[in-house]
Amino acid sequence: SANVSQVERPGSAAAFKRALALMPGGVNSPARAFGGVGGTPIFIDRADGAYLYDVDGNRYIDFIGSWGPMILGHRHPAVIAAIERALAHGTSYGAPTEAESELAERIIDAVASIDMVRLVSSGTEATMSAVRLARGYTGRDLLVKFAGNYHGHVDSLLVAAGSSAATLGAPNSPGVTAGASRDTLVLEYNDVAELEQAFAAHGDKIAGVILEPVVGNMGVVAPSREFVDALHRLTEKHGSLLICDEVMTGFRVAFGGAQSLFGMRPDITTLGKIVGGGLPVGAYGGRREIMQHVLPAGKVFQAGTLSGNPLATAAGAATLRLLKEEPPYERLEALSSRLAAGLQQAATSAGVPHTIARVGSMLTLFFHPGPIHSWRQASQADTARFGRYFWGLMDRGVYMPCSQYEALFVSGAHTETEIDATIRAAEEVLKQ
Ligand code: PMP
Repeated sequence: SANVSQVERPGSAAAFKRALALMPGGVNSPARAFGGVGGTPIFIDRADGAYLYDVDGNRYIDFIGSWGPMILGHRHPAVIAAIERALAHGTSYGAPTEAESELAERIIDAVASIDMVRLVSSGTEATMSAVRLARGYTGRDLLVKFAGNYHGHVDSLLVAAGSSAATLGAPNSPGVTAGASRDTLVLEYNDVAELEQAFAAHGDKIAGVILEPVVGNMGVVAPSREFVDALHRLTEKHGSLLICDEVMTGFRVAFGGAQSLFGMRPDITTLGKIVGGGLPVGAYGGRREIMQHVLPAGKVFQAGTLSGNPLATAAGAATLRLLKEEPPYERLEALSSRLAAGLQQAATSAGVPHTIARVGSMLTLFFHPGPIHSWRQASQADTARFGRYFWGLMDRGVYMPCSQYEALFVSGAHTETEIDATIRAAEEVLKQ
């Protein structure tokens, strides 16, 4: 089949064979197994700047950036130096450090809706805790989420369902009990009428609405003005909390997150990825009065042995400091728009039906003529064509996300050289 690599990578093949016997699917997170595109995962030896190097010595222009965190590129000297300074003091204490306050201050300074924050170790922990807090604070059970939005592997959020506002969710993983998913309503993104119906039917029972304020996890989809307005209007009217899951978009689409771009005022925001600068950090924060409900200030339980880990907070704080003092966002915008224009041109001249969606340095080339505003539409894309595109680029030294339903990320380490090489590779691949 054409849907595989034409390049031999014996090192990766051997490494995968070994890993398959040791870890389910040979990986520690399923996307890495290339399930969406087929073929053998490529094992990475090291990374530098805009490049990944595999165990066979091949070099790739990296557009996954560890699935978002590496906005400054790999091994940024200031981030490495901060980790080394922290390392010289120790690796974990289980007692408070001043470094935690530095990272907390930087987050609170950047994200307008956050007065107070709690640091955790992953995006999943952040959203799980935010949902618990919303329920604990409101004393209500129901949660609204949107089809195609991913919030980590939290039981109550691993729910896909028929898109009727009246239908309660069914779990989409074995092991999630009907009880865990029963209190989750799944609606279609950007569908104002459905949101209105859900609030009309259940408003006084809805603890919160969680969303990706720009979706990355069904490919890039931006929220409409009407949708954002309805989210504010309905949550305020019914006393429900608005939870912006900015694990991917925080410090990515803008220093202040997607909420700053789209004029959103969430009650709770979740963060991850970039706030750890490539080490494991997540965070959730919001209005002081809400955050004061978290233990030990309040009664909503949440804890973590390695929360606020000194190496991770050092990497995160160094990253946020650079993003503030030497903002890369204008350059990221210019490079990303150059990439979008080049891919658009390549797909058009090859006669391939497509839509490009981009917000800042998050971008998806959908193999579907569009428009794409919801999962109902995104799920129509030509994923087989995407698989051939992915491997064609991989064999030309361009490492894209291995699914049609992901965003690619441009980093501060990319230059016009990498962008133009990527466009040339895409022209060749799409022509075939
Ligand atoms: N929320 C969003 C929007 C995400 O993109 C992700 C991860 N891709 C998560 C939550 C979960 O984060 P983690 O993988 O760190 O648990």
